[in-house]
Amino acid sequence: MRKVFLGILMLLCGWASVSAAEKSFSSPDGKLTVWVDDANGTPTYRVALGETSFIESSPLGLKTNIGDFTQGLTLTGCEVKPVKDQYQLATIKQSQVSYEATEAVCSFEQQGKKVMDVVFRVSNRDVAYRYTIYPKGGTLVCVVDSEASGFQLPAGTTTFLCPQSRPMGGFARTAPSYETGYSLDDQMGKNGWGEGYSFPCLFRVGEKGWVLISETGVDGNYVASRLLNVKDGLYRIGFPQQGECNGWGSTSASVALPCQTPWRTITVGTTLANVVETTVPFDLVSQKYKASQEYVWGKGSWSWIIGMDASCNFDEQKRYIDFSAAMGYQSVLIDALWDVQIGREKIAELAAYGKTKGVGLFLWYNSNGSWNDAPQSPKGKMDKSRERRAEMAWMKSIGIRGIKVDFFGGDKQNMMQLYEDILTDANDFGILVIFHGCTLPRGWERMYPNYAASEAVLASENLHFGQGACDAEARNATIHAFIRNTVGSMDFGGSTLNKYYSANNQRGSRRVTSDVYALATAVLFQSPVQHFALAPNNLTDAPAWAIDFMKSVPTNWDEVKYIDGYPGKYAIFARRAGNQWFIVGINAEEQPLKTNIDLSLFEKGTELQVYSDDAQLNGSVKTVKAKKQMAVTIPTNGGLVIVNK
Ligand code: CA
Repeated sequence: MRKVFLGILMLLCGWASVSAAEKSFSSPDGKLTVWVDDANGTPTYRVALGETSFIESSPLGLKTNIGDFTQGLTLTGCEVKPVKDQYQLATIKQSQVSYEATEAVCSFEQQGKKVMDVVFRVSNRDVAYRYTIYPKGGTLVCVVDSEASGFQLPAGTTTFLCPQSRPMGGFARTAPSYETGYSLDDQMGKNGWGEGYSFPCLFRVGEKGWVLISETGVDGNYVASRLLNVKDGLYRIGFPQQGECNGWGSTSASVALPCQTPWRTITVGTTLANVVETTVPFDLVSQKYKASQEYVWGKGSWSWIIGMDASCNFDEQKRYIDFSAAMGYQSVLIDALWDVQIGREKIAELAAYGKTKGVGLFLWYNSNGSWNDAPQSPKGKMDKSRERRAEMAWMKSIGIRGIKVDFFGGDKQNMMQLYEDILTDANDFGILVIFHGCTLPRGWERMYPNYAASEAVLASENLHFGQGACDAEARNATIHAFIRNTVGSMDFGGSTLNKYYSANNQRGSRRVTSDVYALATAVLFQSPVQHFALAPNNLTDAPAWAIDFMKSVPTNWDEVKYIDGYPGKYAIFARRAGNQWFIVGINAEEQPLKTNIDLSLFEKGTELQVYSDDAQLNGSVKTVKAKKQMAVTIPTNGGLVIVNK
C-alpha cells in the first residue's frame, strides 16, 4: 500500500515537475497574459486576452553556429518587473507616449549553462519578445541562421496578408520591395507566393478580436524578417531569401555576443482600436544618435506623380516651387533623372530660388550598387561611404532639405546596414531621409531622428500606371490604414485633386475617388513629410474649399483614435493636432455607408466644420448636441472630414 502510494506520489510529482516550469506574467491592467514553458526541452509561449486565447502554444528559440537553442533547453526562471517610459516623438502617430509594461526576462539553460534569455514586454495591448544570446566560453561572435519564433493562431482565424515577393522579380528586378496586394479575410494554411508574407501581418480571430504581428528594432546588426507558414496555422519568423541582392550577402544574421535580437511584436485587441493606436514599434527602441539640427517636416509637392520623368526639368521644378510656396508648403521633391535633365548647377539655382520662397528641396537617388537593374540616375552615390558623404557635403553646401532613396536590394543584413549608414551620414549633413522601393521601417522613427518615411506599400505611382489601381484606390486605402501604416510612417504621395493622372488633366488613368476622399486620406495616412499628388493647375481647377483644406492640414499629429471600420471596406479614424480633432472616413464598399459618427471626442456645443460628398452638407457647420452623434452617408469611393473650429 505504502509503495503504491509512493508510486502515485512520484507520478504526481513527475507530472507536476513538467508543468511547474511554466511561468506566467500579465500586463499592467492584468488582462493580457503570457505563459512560457519548456516542456520536452522546447521553449514555448502562449498569449491570452482575458479568457480568450489569441496565440496558442508556439515555439521560441534560435539556431546558431554556436548551438541549437530550440531544443534541449530548461527554463530556469523568469525575472519579472514593471517598466515605464515616457517619450516625445513628433513624427509618429502620437506625440507624447506614456509606455507601461511588464518585463519578464526568461532564462534558458542547455547542459547546465545559460545560453539564452527570452525577454518579454507585456503592455495593455501588446506582447513583444526578443532574444539575448550569451557568449560561449571565449566565443564572442555567432551567426544566427534561423529563428523558431512562431505564432500559432487559433483555428478559424482569418488572414489579412500581402505576399513577400520572390527575389529579383518585378520592375528592373527590384523585388522584394513590399509592394504586393492583400488578400482579405483569407483562410490560414497558405504561404503567399511560396515565400510567406511581408510585415505587418493582420489576423482576425473570429468575433473575438484581432492580432497584428510585426517586428521592430531592426538595424544593421540583424536581418529583417517575414512571416512564413510552415504548416497549417503555424506562422514562423522567416529570414531573407538567398536570391535577394542578386545573391550577394548571407541570409543569416552575424552578431557580436552578448547580442539582443530585434523584437517580435504581437498587438492584441477585441476591436481594431489597439491595432490602430499601438505605439509598440517605437516603445521598444531607443534613439541611436542625436539630431544634428532641428529638422523641418511638413508638406510638399512633386511633379513626377502627374508629369512623370519628362517633368524633371528646370522650368517645371521652378513652377512646382512656386506652387508649394502658394500652398504654404515646406518642400518640393525632385524625382529621378534630375542629374541629367537639370544638372547640378541648375539644381543649386533651384535650391537658392526655393530658399527665397521658403521651400526646401528633396532630391531622388538610386540606392545602387550592384543589386538590381534599376537604370534611373543618379546612381552610385548612396551605396558607398566616400561617394555618399561627398554627395551629401555638396547637398549641404547648396541647402538641400532631404533625399528620397529608391530601389533597395531586400532584407539581408547588408541592406539593413546600408539603410542605417545612409541615415547616419545624412544626419551629419542635416539631411532628412525618405526610402522608396524599400523594406518596412521597423522602429526607425525613434531610432533615427532624421528618418522621415518609407514607401513599402503599393503607393500612388500605381494610380498613374493603371486604371485598375485607381478603381481599387479606396479599397487599398482602407487596408493600409489598418495594416501598413499602423507600424510606421508611410510615404504614399496621394490626395490627388486632378481628375486624370496627366499634365493636361484630360487623359491617362482616371481618379474615381471624390475630392473629399482626397482630403480624408491626407489625414488617414500618417507621415511627418507628405508630398501630395497635387498640381499647380489645382489652384484654379479644384474647389477652393479643397485647396484651403490641403493648405492647412497637419502632417504631425498628437494622437490617433480608431472609430470604426474594416480592412477593405471602410475606415473612420480621428487624429488630433493641438486642440483640433480631425474625424475622417472613407468608404470602399459598393453601397453608400450610412452610419452615426460618435462625436464623444467633443464637448456639447462645439462647432464642427463638415466636408462631405453630400453637396447639402458640404461646408456646413454643425453644433455637437447632447447625444454626441452625427448621421452621415459616405458614398462609394467617397470621404468625410469633420473638424472642430
Ligand atoms: Ca515604388
